[in-house]
Amino acid sequence: AKAALNAYRGKPTETADGDRVLLVANIGNPDDATGAIEHDAEGVGLFRSEFLFMDAKELPSEEDQFKAYQKVALKMKDQPVIIRTLDVGGDKEIPYLDLKKEENPFMGYRAVRYCLSNPEQYKVQLRALLRASAFGDIKIMVPLVTCLEEIRSVKELVEECKKELDAEGVKYNPDIEVGTMIETPAASLIADDLAAECDFFSIGTNDLIGYTMCADRGNDAIAYLYSVYNPAVLRSIKRIVECGNEAGIMVGMCGEAAADPLLIPMLISFGLGEYSVSAPSVLKTRKTISEWTKAEADALAEKVMRLKTAEEVKDALAEAAK
Ligand code: PEP
Ligand code: MG
Repeated sequence: AKAALNAYRGKPTETADGDRVLLVANIGNPDDATGAIEHDAEGVGLFRSEFLFMDAKELPSEEDQFKAYQKVALKMKDQPVIIRTLDVGGDKEIPYLDLKKEENPFMGYRAVRYCLSNPEQYKVQLRALLRASAFGDIKIMVPLVTCLEEIRSVKELVEECKKELDAEGVKYNPDIEVGTMIETPAASLIADDLAAECDFFSIGTNDLIGYTMCADRGNDAIAYLYSVYNPAVLRSIKRIVECGNEAGIMVGMCGEAAADPLLIPMLISFGLGEYSVSAPSVLKTRKTISEWTKAEADALAEKVMRLKTAEEVKDALAEAAK
């Protein structure tokens, strides 16, 4: 199987009828970029920057962050590198931030909410990202967005940082893209409005499934609910891709579901433009995408979107799988 997958090395990622998509990798630290390159990814679709913070004993300085982001940018040469700003809270604890214990951490003070209420601290990360953007195709991605004001506030902070860097004579990419993760039902419901103010979307199915189904992935008693095949989740994904495509922005997916061979024909039909998967899944994902024509994927999606339960959906997708 491995030899067969090697045939997909160096090949473009495209459907059987030649629709090109972008196939990139998720990484957790700068050294992982090596694995992304070894597995023939076409860039980085999600650098989870929280690992820089979790591995440290105190807040990483602007210089430390700059070096880490620059390292990834340089390794990936001219390929796109999407770096997600700090996604703290929920299951991601950072002891030195001294956050209060919450009754309901997944619905609490986390990710962009935490960052926006600590703007000076957030600007350290944004400045580091801007400085690193002079060395590669870095894009900034915001986690756990639920309303337009959050994206607007992040973009204002980015503009403030640009002015500071201008005054200091420091180089950065003035056209750096700022996009958002779509991983909450609220973001999905306002995806049309978000698309008008974002440069790209990346669908975080890991959280989107959990928040849509009100089901914690770690809880065995309700594990049966945690599935991307639920009609509610599929409709949400379809809507997000359509809103993004209508606005002419890139829509990707960086949750685990992007590498699910059963789901891939649905994503092809919806019109997903970028698949971000773990490095070892890159070639397999390229192969699965190459096995479907758009017309075949559309026919399957047409049928599947009318099914009523996750079980029916999964069975239909399994039956259709190549
Ligand atoms: C997601 O929620 O799908 C995602 C990619 O982010 P994380 O798994 O880091 O929460
Ligand atoms: Mg997430």
